[in-house]
Amino acid sequence: MQSLTVLGATGSIGVSTLNVVSQHTDKYQVFALTAFSNTNKLIEQACEHEPEFVVIADESNKHQSAEIQKRLPARTKLLFGSEALEQVASEQKVDIVMAAIVGAAGVRPTLAAARAGKKVLLANKESLVVTGNLMIDTVKHNNATLLPIDSEHNAIFQCLPEQYNGALYDRKQVSKILLTGSGGPFRETPLDQLCQVTPAQACAHPNWNMGQKISVDSATMMNKGLEVIEACYLFGIGTQQLEVVLHPQSIVHSMVSYCDGSVIAQLGQPDMRTPIAYGLAWPNRIDAGVEPLDFSVVSQLDFSSPDLNRYPCLKLAFEAFDEGGSMPAVLNAANEISVAAFLNGGIKFTDIAAVNESVMSSQDWPAALELEDLLEQDRIARDNAQHFINKLN
Ligand code: NAD
Ligand code: MG
Repeated sequence: MQSLTVLGATGSIGVSTLNVVSQHTDKYQVFALTAFSNTNKLIEQACEHEPEFVVIADESNKHQSAEIQKRLPARTKLLFGSEALEQVASEQKVDIVMAAIVGAAGVRPTLAAARAGKKVLLANKESLVVTGNLMIDTVKHNNATLLPIDSEHNAIFQCLPEQYNGALYDRKQVSKILLTGSGGPFRETPLDQLCQVTPAQACAHPNWNMGQKISVDSATMMNKGLEVIEACYLFGIGTQQLEVVLHPQSIVHSMVSYCDGSVIAQLGQPDMRTPIAYGLAWPNRIDAGVEPLDFSVVSQLDFSSPDLNRYPCLKLAFEAFDEGGSMPAVLNAANEISVAAFLNGGIKFTDIAAVNESVMSSQDWPAALELEDLLEQDRIARDNAQHFINKLN
């Protein structure tokens, strides 16, 4: 029996994780569930899974503590605040931590899990984009295991010959990692109409059902950009060894191209329960509750190159990783602020890339290596992004 903490339990990945866990209650038991502020959903999940702890990160809910506690199972203790996230991610009893908080808010608890030597299932790509090699080194030094849950990285992991971490596979045999992306809902929208798209249109992804932030990121392809950076850190490669391939059907989740001409791909339904189940059971496999592909229905798989004029955020991500230092963290921070502004109706869809680019070039960003320095650059980048947004209005 393995003990599991789900950080961000009430989100899209958190819900899919608990769905897989419900199918295997003989293998996994929930130790802790966390949420930002969706207390009703968290209570409902706690009543089903009876964890030892639930954590509500948003302390402004603290005044309802007694009322919430009454609705929780008797054995479940209630904690508040972001430090409690780190506590339930690193408790000795915990074997596996699903890192499924959205954004840089997941940095500290994900790092805490790595420091405590846990098996970390990484959905929260932003935490790796912000911390980069600091996260990778923390995993190595503490004998933790970092398994990618992002469907593309999970696919690449499945297509690589050996464990990806460090130099355990011979990188010379891999000529390229081919990262697929659907191109989002505006793949064919005329470029001059992109400035008019609404948050509701941007959140209606053609193939995947996800949280709002990643849905907007998929529409701008900033998501693919963050995934480029994520892949470079995870698999120890540079951007020249990585190619983004547009694949509108989201059936091929990514591929690895080898020096002998072989290309190995992982295919499946666009359902996050597949990579989640693979992460939970690795190196074994368990039923994920996902229907296998029916090739009499999947009649066509299309591939093409992304147009960087349509997806300027993707270009910024390549530049940020090549620049190195704190630039990936800066781009991520700017993007969190610009996406939130777009979702609130504060800026246009096309302003997202403009704000991100302005923040990247707004000053010389230092080569921050320590966590506190990176988080300081993150904070400054957020301020700069807000400043550019205010100027637009
Ligand atoms: P979501 O918005 O549906 O859920 C986010 C979760 O994080 C919620 O439980 C929320 O309560 C919690 N949270 C938000 N802000 C927080 C804060 N400040 N402190 C603590 N907790 C906070 O997001 P999602 O779609 O489930 O995505 C989660 C992560 O997984 C993201 O990093 C995303 O990029 C990644 N991911 C998601 C998918 C997907 O299909 N949804 C696929 C691949 C990767
Ligand atoms: Mg992905």
